[in-house]
Amino acid sequence: MSSGSPLICVVEDEPVIAAQVANRLRAEGFTVELAEDGPAGVALVERVRPDLVVLDLMLPGLDGLEVCRRIQATRAVPVLMLTARDAEEDLLVGLAVGADDYLTKPFSARELVARIRALLRRVERRPQPTDAAIVSVGAVELDSSTRRVRIDGEPVHLTPTEFELLSLLAARPGAVLSREQLLADIRGWRDGAGLRTVDSHVRGLRAKVGSHLIRTVHGIGYALEA
Ligand code: CA
Repeated sequence: MSSGSPLICVVEDEPVIAAQVANRLRAEGFTVELAEDGPAGVALVERVRPDLVVLDLMLPGLDGLEVCRRIQATRAVPVLMLTARDAEEDLLVGLAVGADDYLTKPFSARELVARIRALLRRVERRPQPTDAAIVSVGAVELDSSTRRVRIDGEPVHLTPTEFELLSLLAARPGAVLSREQLLADIRGWRDGAGLRTVDSHVRGLRAKVGSHLIRTVHGIGYALEA
């Protein structure tokens, strides 16, 4: 994270919401850059390399899912997705393609700020330099100092949440971690975020690292194949 105030990109096509969000975040001490459609959002994020992206799901040009996919392809930046009510399916897909958290409209500015701070704290949390930084389990190699992952030597870009999930599973290869445990261990996930959120992030992780690496234990949870 850069020194000074965190930089947040807000990609939102509704001017009233965009202005409210930007004003509140600036009042909280964040630096804010705005984009009002999908392609402009992708270009903005590539140009300014923000600390976090607030991304509306329904956008002209490219929808939020595609924007999320594109910005996550080059760099693991935390994404907070804004969704309309009754868009749960879209939301689950959104989490699977790389959003770290979501808020359903209408949301309070206070809740938005709390979620943003929680996400930024998760990304800021760095292991001590004395920690064994690199963990290898089979074909998977995790470097916790750089938060980089390689599978068979090939770099894989994970969201911060996916990295945490994989780290938890890799810490105990072969052991089954319950969904409740994973939900509790990933700090910053709000209470009641729901076990389906875990499933959704696991789906996203599998799509990136290969589904054979993560075993589902039905009714219980997940394990990393040793
Ligand atoms: Ca919209």
